[in-house]
Amino acid sequence: MNEYQFNVIGHIKSPYKQKFAIPRQPGLIPEASGQLVIAAPFNDEAIVRGIEAFSHLWLVFVFHETADKGWSPMVRPPRLGGNTRKGVFATRATFRPNPIGLSVVKLDKVVWKNGQLILEISGLDLLDGTPILDIKPYLPYSDALPSAKGGFADAAPSTAMTVSMSEQARIFCQQQQQHPHLQVFIEKVLKQDPRPPYKKQREGEQHYGMTLYDFNIKWTVNGEHNHVTEITQLL
Ligand code: SAH
Repeated sequence: MNEYQFNVIGHIKSPYKQKFAIPRQPGLIPEASGQLVIAAPFNDEAIVRGIEAFSHLWLVFVFHETADKGWSPMVRPPRLGGNTRKGVFATRATFRPNPIGLSVVKLDKVVWKNGQLILEISGLDLLDGTPILDIKPYLPYSDALPSAKGGFADAAPSTAMTVSMSEQARIFCQQQQQHPHLQVFIEKVLKQDPRPPYKKQREGEQHYGMTLYDFNIKWTVNGEHNHVTEITQLL
């Protein structure tokens, strides 16, 4: 048997509403908080009993947004500037023979809300709506390997980008009591320079927009500086 069918056990609610600006791996932006909403018939308290004893979880998920785009044996990791090719199994690219992703996230809380079983998680790198196939506790004694080699991605990406905010943007962030870390979150998302590699070479001022949570964020990039011009609430 060479085909297997899986059941989606839940879906992700994520601040990242589009692929653009999602960090390349989990844990890079701890302020990104979301939820895993367990789907029926798995929404049974018994299924997560004991899970709170673990600080982190592995999530196995479907790259649902790009799943129908197929795959190729070699990919160009953005980390290498988008020009060097590596074998798909030597990368964490989304275009794989089986469009399955793997992310470790922090487990903040398990809650029941309006009859829904919800795992509150943070540090995620997942698109809103991502279907989850499995949850496994992270086991530090086996999963944490400090002497492991990281190939072409041996250290977390860093940039020289700086970020400033207009007065409107700063005040807007301060008013969001439901998202007390919103300003730091936005700053970290921009600091990683989400632009595609070819745009990083362009001269002059560039204008960008994105949605995080239900906020529309507009900013400009000039050299190595991002300036958030305006944040508005989506209706
Ligand atoms: N940690 C995972 C994901 C790495 S790729 C793994 O190693 O398997 C990270 C990229 O996946 C993000 O930049 C984002 O653009 C993309 N991504 C996240 N959720 C996705 C989804 N549901 N469908 C397609 N792409 C997704």
